[in-house]
Amino acid sequence: GSSSDKLNDALRLHIHPEELYEYFSLWEKSIADNTRFELVHRLKKNNEDEYAWHYTQALPFKDYNNDTVAWFGISTDIDEQKRALDKKDEFISIASHELKTPVTSIKGYVQLLRFNFQQEGNAEAASLLTKADIQINKLTSLITDLLDVRKIENGQLRYHEDTFEFNSLVREIIEETERVTRHPIEYAAGPDCTVRGDRNKIGQVITNFIDNAAKYSPAHAVIKVATDVQDARVKLSVQDFGLGIPKDQQGKIFERFFRVSGEKENTYAGLGLGLYISAEIIKRHKGSIGVESEHGKGSTFYFELPTFKKPE
Ligand code: ADP
Repeated sequence: GSSSDKLNDALRLHIHPEELYEYFSLWEKSIADNTRFELVHRLKKNNEDEYAWHYTQALPFKDYNNDTVAWFGISTDIDEQKRALDKKDEFISIASHELKTPVTSIKGYVQLLRFNFQQEGNAEAASLLTKADIQINKLTSLITDLLDVRKIENGQLRYHEDTFEFNSLVREIIEETERVTRHPIEYAAGPDCTVRGDRNKIGQVITNFIDNAAKYSPAHAVIKVATDVQDARVKLSVQDFGLGIPKDQQGKIFERFFRVSGEKENTYAGLGLGLYISAEIIKRHKGSIGVESEHGKGSTFYFELPTFKKPE
């Protein structure tokens, strides 16, 4: 009707051109499907050329002929909050980027020094530098996590397609982590199988599971890694006998920045990003990820991926 045309024209003038198309296609969809409209967009301030971010929700109301007779909505000014959040994200992104270069060069110097001390036969100095190197690796992986999160949000995380033997990747990672952890790792390998996807990134998920298992369980407690193949899917699981996770928080640990809170839990350092990134990587490989856990007893983290059958 003409009243809604007038409303359209008025809105068109007030909505930021960059969100205009999305606004009206969501609107049409909302009317067609009779569902709630929801969008974060910029709206022109009164009598000014400036825009402010708004959160708009609306519902269409229909008469007996199924014609939309009204459109009830509310727009909330969230400009300040939106800008603060964007600034925070931008700051994290710049800070982590700036940290990367100096940390990389420190790592180079530490490795060089360690080599020199080893040559001189100064075992004590060499072993201290090995410890420094391990800490630098932790720092590097925190920085990489922050950069990865940013890339995930911008859809810029790149994947390199590869075809690889799954059990040998698991063995490789167990060897690497055993060198730096005080936990014995038991490995129950299932049948060999091939997986198609980014070998490094899938390896990153396994490393994350094992690192967490070590971090959230008492020193020297065993960590059990297992693989199994069923119905053209390979399952990897990492079991620990540590803190465990309360039932009501198990669904949230794959969210960005989420960390379990509790007296014991608060003593462990971390950013709450590893599992978020892991879930994203597994999702991208058409897999599934999950956890079974009992608070105080331990946890089993697992993922499943499709196996790849070589064409005959
Ligand atoms: P981070 O360990 O850096 O905090 P993660 O994303 O890897 O971040 O894990 C998110 C949260 O899930 C952790 O803060 C911790 O509370 C919980 N968590 C992860 N793995 C385990 C585990 N094996 N046992 C107990 N809690 C865990």
